[in-house]
Amino acid sequence: MAERHRAAGEVPTLLLHSCCGPCSTSVMERLTEFFKVTVFYYNPNIYPEEEYAHRVAEQERLISLFPQVHPISFLAGEYDPQEFYEIAREYENLPEGGERCFRCYELRLRKTAQMAAAGGFDYFTTTLTVSPLKNAQKLNEIGEKVAEEIGGTAWLLSDFKKKNGYLRSCELSREFGMYRQDYCGCVYSLRRDHVGLNHHRTESSEDVPAVKTDS
Ligand code: SF4
Repeated sequence: MAERHRAAGEVPTLLLHSCCGPCSTSVMERLTEFFKVTVFYYNPNIYPEEEYAHRVAEQERLISLFPQVHPISFLAGEYDPQEFYEIAREYENLPEGGERCFRCYELRLRKTAQMAAAGGFDYFTTTLTVSPLKNAQKLNEIGEKVAEEIGGTAWLLSDFKKKNGYLRSCELSREFGMYRQDYCGCVYSLRRDHVGLNHHRTESSEDVPAVKTDS
């Protein structure tokens, strides 16, 4: 598809939902050759607010330094954690990779589709498929579904971890000295990682402050 546009001398616009700077590295590298990319940072799932601010700052810093074939712009979404807690209610205790995550994907992709349609973008997609911990098939299903429901923009089918996309994101993150978080983002993933269930941290879950999750 991208090659077809290039052969026709076209440079379509693409709204790229980004979960974080490190995941966006190899995705931007791949897409800037074919698209005018706008990175959309919409992640109300992230806890706590200081972590959110740090990830946004890293994303903006990366874009300002990043080599660009076609220009890459930045668009910040709103940060309202209640939007996340509403969709996560009753799914709080599920492990990472389950239904809570599918709902979290949909929250972010639906908003991206709405922004893409309102802004007249040809395509939208997400950096999330670059991570081996994310379900690319589910992300593509949700992307197609919200594109059809909202209309006015098209989902760019992708699995950015393929062709060494994940390894390349690690290389580029080192090259740009990026902050790499050690938990997915929400308070539930932070708690699980702190008790050593998912990643590398070993501190007690009691170190993580309680958070009120009902609206
Ligand atoms: S673990 Fe990650 S994808 Fe799953 S709900 Fe939390 S922030 Fe969203």
